[in-house]
Amino acid sequence: MTSTLQTPSTQDQRTYQVNTFGCQMNVHDSERISGLLADAGLAAVAPEAGEGEADVVVFNTCAVRENADNKLYGHLGLLKQEKERRPGLQIAVGGCLAQKDRDTILKRAPWVDVVFGTHNIGSLPVLLERARHNNEAQLEILESLDVFPSTLPTKRESHASGWVSISVGCNNTCTFCIVPSLRGKEKDRRPGDILAEIQALVDDGAIEVTLLGQNVNSYGVEFGDREAFSKLLRACGEIDGLERVRFTSPHPAMFTDDVIEAMAETHNVMPQLHMPLQSGSDKVLKEMRRSYRSKKFLGILDRVRERMPHAAISTDLIVGFPGETEEDFQDTLRVVEESRFSTAFTFQYSARPGTPAASYEDQIPKAVVQERFERLTALQDRIAKEENAKQLGRTVEVLVADSAGRKSGSTGRLSGRTRDQRLLHFSVPAGAAQPRPGDAVTVPVTEVGAFHLVSDPSPEQYSVRATRAGDAWDRAQADSCGVPAPGAAQGTRGVSLGMPTLRAGV
Ligand code: SF4
Repeated sequence: MTSTLQTPSTQDQRTYQVNTFGCQMNVHDSERISGLLADAGLAAVAPEAGEGEADVVVFNTCAVRENADNKLYGHLGLLKQEKERRPGLQIAVGGCLAQKDRDTILKRAPWVDVVFGTHNIGSLPVLLERARHNNEAQLEILESLDVFPSTLPTKRESHASGWVSISVGCNNTCTFCIVPSLRGKEKDRRPGDILAEIQALVDDGAIEVTLLGQNVNSYGVEFGDREAFSKLLRACGEIDGLERVRFTSPHPAMFTDDVIEAMAETHNVMPQLHMPLQSGSDKVLKEMRRSYRSKKFLGILDRVRERMPHAAISTDLIVGFPGETEEDFQDTLRVVEESRFSTAFTFQYSARPGTPAASYEDQIPKAVVQERFERLTALQDRIAKEENAKQLGRTVEVLVADSAGRKSGSTGRLSGRTRDQRLLHFSVPAGAAQPRPGDAVTVPVTEVGAFHLVSDPSPEQYSVRATRAGDAWDRAQADSCGVPAPGAAQGTRGVSLGMPTLRAGV
């Protein structure tokens, strides 16, 4: 779970906190929720605030992961006492679990004030106000989208990066997935609206965008253009100041060569691809109702690597789908070995109520799933480390992250992502310029692990490039506390002083 936490409030301003469970789609929706609440005059609680300290606490839930409901009710249970102590506290529950469970949430936790679904995020401020005014819980779930999420105000978590929804919903029917029934059929946003939103993000200082959809490469299905996604990637290449373009998630079944060509030929589309495999067994893929087979999947990776030899490819895998035999599992191990993924998100199958696979017989015993999971993660960890080892000695450009990350506390290193999305921790040589979050640092890779790279460069090996995202970070610092950003004025190696520029109306 992540919390969206920004600037502290003035004394009498109501505050909010958004707690996010689940996928990137939810993280993006949470940014919209924060934007709506900020627009309604609320301020985010201070980063150090605990859960329940805000006046409005929002849970943006996920129905995909195991125990999602237990987790939610655990959090709600903890807030019950706080609500008794402080009746002004408002609690809202949105996201996939709310869309699925609806009034069950109010039955199990009657102290909740608002339940809203995935299609009506924009109603949240009104529902909160109505709940307060009528002193009665509000439940509003829509079956389909009334306002495309990206037309709502957004409060971004990072100055350097932004998410842009290109589509919502999914026309596939994977038997393990609850998304189609919760998010509905695919709805595509108009290309002009998407590009306008990207331009607005860039104007606001972002240098990286991730295009978001349940199935990005089927983008265009609604308006009948089979090459709409590759055209969109190429159009991103025309946006001045946009340095890094990523997308998630594509689907292997509809992944066509025009997308590979667009990736290879568009300067700011990053050499990185997340391509969900799920299983290496053709029999299991058929049972999952995923219409590609392992041969097609491997063919896609070959063609991507032919055009982008250094592309880092990651994946999603499910272990222990109903009916998976040891032979099927061996197929997964074989395809994983051949695929050479840089990272894999590996899940143990667990039946999600409401999905077709939940009612399949031959569910696999937990102990068998666990044992296969351990073999698969051991294999993938070895591959990840071997693939990372190929990075040793390479010079890479890192986009410095907003938060230095857990590691930095003990080592003093800063963190960021390389162009191919690998996590890299780096030290700043003594006397060299400190980069600001959002600046770009160029360093050699000096050490590797399975999940990250490390760089301890000499002064000659280290350089910093000031970016507009770093400038935006400076401005935000100045806006929130009235003093120039620390670090920006230190050192002399190519980092602009980043004097804060106060924008009218900010
Ligand atoms: S492609 Fe399959 S897994 Fe992905 S959202 Fe659609 S139904 Fe779910």
